[in-house]
Amino acid sequence: MVWRPGLSAGDRPVRLIDAHVPAALCPALAAVAGGRERIAVDITLADGRVVAIEPAGQARGEGATDLDGGLVFPAFADVHTHLDKGHIWPRTDNPDGRFGTALNACEIDRRQNWTAEDVRRRMDFALRAAEAHGTRLIRTHIDSSPPQHRISWPVFAAMREAWRGRVELQGVALIGIDELPEGSDLDAYVSVVADHGGMLGAAVYPIDDLDARLKRLFDAAVRFGLDLDFHADEALDPEAHGLRRIAETALETGFPGQITVGHACSLTVQADDEVCRTLDVVARAGITVVTLPLCNLYLQDRHPGRTPRLRGATIVQEMAGRDIPVAIASDNTRDPFYAYGDLDMLEVYRAATRILHLDHPLGDWPAAVTRVPAAMMGEPGRGILETGAPANLVLFRARSFSELLARGQDDRIVVRDGVVLDRVLPDYRELDDLFGA
Ligand SMILES: [Zn+2]
Repeated sequence: MVWRPGLSAGDRPVRLIDAHVPAALCPALAAVAGGRERIAVDITLADGRVVAIEPAGQARGEGATDLDGGLVFPAFADVHTHLDKGHIWPRTDNPDGRFGTALNACEIDRRQNWTAEDVRRRMDFALRAAEAHGTRLIRTHIDSSPPQHRISWPVFAAMREAWRGRVELQGVALIGIDELPEGSDLDAYVSVVADHGGMLGAAVYPIDDLDARLKRLFDAAVRFGLDLDFHADEALDPEAHGLRRIAETALETGFPGQITVGHACSLTVQADDEVCRTLDVVARAGITVVTLPLCNLYLQDRHPGRTPRLRGATIVQEMAGRDIPVAIASDNTRDPFYAYGDLDMLEVYRAATRILHLDHPLGDWPAAVTRVPAAMMGEPGRGILETGAPANLVLFRARSFSELLARGQDDRIVVRDGVVLDRVLPDYRELDDLFGA
């Protein structure tokens, strides 16, 4: 059966009746949720906005669209991606699937192939996939090792304008912390990022002068008024304490901006007292954390002929227990860091739920792919189902979380500003000419 409810736009209100919404995403009705995972509601849309969410049974009448118990989510927010690396797999794969191989392969591919046109084509492809899956906000890291920053940042800024109103974009400059320029070179580097509306960041791993380098990056962020987003401790190395050092630097400098840190895999192999020390300082510094479980599963504890035991996805339940905001995000797609992926946040949420046991109880975890990352991106009114919010919705045939997470939900309906999107996933063949095919 093809499921196409008769939802249409126009200037008359649209009533969606007999829907379910995740209780975690509908704060106005939390009182009636009574601890349940979902709430039965009727939703009215008008002028591209949600104008009413009421307990089911209120909004009957002519022209109503009966969702027959189906779940409604707000549009997804994906706060950690790599649009500039995406989809290079056909020309640059990862023959052993390991982290170091991925790093080297991407660097070679970048030096040889990343013209403005190459980056633009692959970014556009990835964005069309994300849009079709129901995502409206994306933050992407952008490989910014000079001279690539002068190629990729203008492309990113143009894409952000071209996609405004479809998918809103933020960019973060990604560079190895040991590659960070010094002196006047640092300001020249940061100027390129700032001029294109980006944020600063770095990949952080154990090196001798880590503290001094972090301090230099924080100082630059303050001088230019930029927020920070790091990759930290993306390894099963108990000696990797990058997350803690970032948090301590934030406290020591009184950093006024926002700080996000992704990965923190090393916490999964550290002693409990070490972990507690780190989480205490992370909570005090007001840092938000992003877990990237699909990429971690792919790269961590990979050894030829040996089944992985350690999976690397960080300790999100302990973080949530200390009120550290945690988001779940995609990370890489079809590049040497991850051979698969399609920027489908339902796939990511579904995998995270299973890998990290984000169920029984479900708690607030649906917010980790919607409300929490939207707030990290400075859009606290998004990723939430409330009166006045933009009518950016994903409608599922599934009625419960068991039904939702059992299947891929390829028949979902994406509503953008009150209008049903014509969901078409881009065809991989479109990019064949980039790979000499
Ligand atoms: Zn990443």
